[in-house]
Amino acid sequence: MASQTPQSSETPSGTILLGKYELGRRLGTGSFAKVHVARSIQTGEVVAIKIIDKKKTAEAGMEPRIIREIEAMRRLHHHPNVLKIHEVMATKSKIYLVMELAAGGELYTKIIDHGRLNESAARRYFQQLASALSFCHGDGIAHRDVKPQNLLLDKQDNLKLSDFGLSALSEHRAIDGLLYTACGTPAYTAPEIIAQRGYDGAKADAWSCGVLLFVLLAGYVPFDNSNIVAMYMKIQRRDYRFPSWISKPARSIIYKMLDPNPETRMSVEDVMGKKWFQKSLETTEVVSCNNVVLDSDVVSEKSITAFDLIGLAPGLDLSGMFESRKRKEMRFTTRVSAEGVVEKVKNIGEKLGFRVEKKKEAARAVELGKGRTTVVVEAVDVAEGFVVAEVKVAEGKEEEEEAHLSEVIVELEEIVLAWHNDVI
Ligand code: ADP
Ligand code: MG
Repeated sequence: MASQTPQSSETPSGTILLGKYELGRRLGTGSFAKVHVARSIQTGEVVAIKIIDKKKTAEAGMEPRIIREIEAMRRLHHHPNVLKIHEVMATKSKIYLVMELAAGGELYTKIIDHGRLNESAARRYFQQLASALSFCHGDGIAHRDVKPQNLLLDKQDNLKLSDFGLSALSEHRAIDGLLYTACGTPAYTAPEIIAQRGYDGAKADAWSCGVLLFVLLAGYVPFDNSNIVAMYMKIQRRDYRFPSWISKPARSIIYKMLDPNPETRMSVEDVMGKKWFQKSLETTEVVSCNNVVLDSDVVSEKSITAFDLIGLAPGLDLSGMFESRKRKEMRFTTRVSAEGVVEKVKNIGEKLGFRVEKKKEAARAVELGKGRTTVVVEAVDVAEGFVVAEVKVAEGKEEEEEAHLSEVIVELEEIVLAWHNDVI
């Protein structure tokens, strides 16, 4: 929701983020993040940047949510109704998700401001949502938090599915293929989640779709969530009333999607075959994931992790590294802990005959000195199980620093997952 809160003093408008984006006005505030409009200094492109405060998320154990969000968005960025993620950047204290700008804001605001939609406007959003969700489900991802606050609109009034923080990748499933984390927003949440039974995420999304279609057409939620127990009983009895203006075919779809039994509930894929759904259907240009090489980042569909996502930059290219005097620092991601990186660097230093000095003020930095050159390696925990380290020449003699830096870099290769210079 658009926030009236004044701009935070930490990230005021006009701030240049990591030399790449000029920050503009605040677009919204989530529980752990602020979203700002921003402009790329290089290309002039206008984007949205979600600024996540690492300290807050670490305290709340939110890192897995952030990683899930990045993973899901990266995997799904070929669908026109899934909000695209352009880039992920991080510093010690913040994570920046650079995303496509949804200039039209939340669908929620539109309903609050203008009330219910006519059938063809509601159908158009519903079609776009179903198309996005079936694409997600086809890739083994369930969204799990479908509600109008997470459905954004672009300049052309196209729906953009966002906020994949609760999304579940199929890899996170238990042995029986069902999800066990209770999540979502009560008014839109499927009964099997409320009951904390194991559930099928795609079927839970279908439930939320049914609620959403009801909301778009009626202008209010079918089940009032002021009392969860009462709401749950109503859900089980299918106790809700259609307003008179909702057409018979739309009622039939909502009725079948609001089936309390996930086994018999109409799925997103099934609804897409219905005549009501197919009316004035715009064709969405979806490039199938199977036919496309996803940038350079995807190692294998199933094993993709935040490391792969954040380490999008091409692999280590030593030739380019020493061309200019300025490029005397490199960053890499690793699965080894920050302490592990420090240990590794100390070993490398001893092995190669450097003077090894662990910096006192920053426990996770090691200085390696040889001749008149000092190479510093510093590791930072960016998120749970996700470490970024920086290797740079702190002081040096031009003739020897290249050699000393590359000596260290070659030895580090063992623990490096991906090198990148400007992604993080
Ligand atoms: P949270 O995960 O904390 O709920 P969201 O990703 O939902 O955060 O972002 C919070 C709010 O910021 C959204 O509800 C929306 O109003 C706004 N917002 C988020 N992303 C964008 C975007 N790409 N374009 C425009 N507004 C956005
Ligand atoms: Mg949200």
